[in-house]
Amino acid sequence: MKPTDPNATRVERTEPATAEERGLRTFHRDAEKAIMDRITENYGDKIAPERLAWERNHPASLETRKEFERAYQSRLGEKPPESVVGFYDPIERHAHVRIERNDDIPGTIAHEHLHGLTNPEANHKLPSNVIEGAVENYARKLIEHEPQPGDLAAYEREVRAVRAVEANGGTDAVERAVFKGDTEGLQRAVDDALRDRRSRV
Ligand SMILES: [Zn+2]
Repeated sequence: MKPTDPNATRVERTEPATAEERGLRTFHRDAEKAIMDRITENYGDKIAPERLAWERNHPASLETRKEFERAYQSRLGEKPPESVVGFYDPIERHAHVRIERNDDIPGTIAHEHLHGLTNPEANHKLPSNVIEGAVENYARKLIEHEPQPGDLAAYEREVRAVRAVEANGGTDAVERAVFKGDTEGLQRAVDDALRDRRSRV
């Protein structure tokens, strides 16, 4: 996502009122730590150390609907659509996750941190649907949960496209493209996958 107002100030978070809410946030914080450990284990050798350290040291803001709307509005200049439950602020380098009416909080936390871990060059070189497909693919693997039929799954088609490249021997190529900005291998993997198709120019 592109910010529209770079001068927007960071929204103050209000502390949760009830013990139940505090307990829930502790639960999500523990899940977040486990996710960051897995990211480090699975992709740590491909991610720039500075970016990995930054995301580990900057936990996502776990926000009520109101807090999320305010943060989104101040950064993107408009109200978030109801279906949006997370966004990554590339200026503050900060993950925002809505915890109200969000049936996949761990998946959202993983997805938004992965945006922060993506190589900035990759964000220029690759179409956003490739980035979203790869990020959501990794998020699903990290939390070991695939959406079930009927779920409002994010980026379903994009994930399927990335997995088709992975199945064709492109796993390493996708990782190098997303985390290192080295997109040559991915281009080759896509070319290979398309090679046997009939062509019409
Ligand atoms: Zn995304």
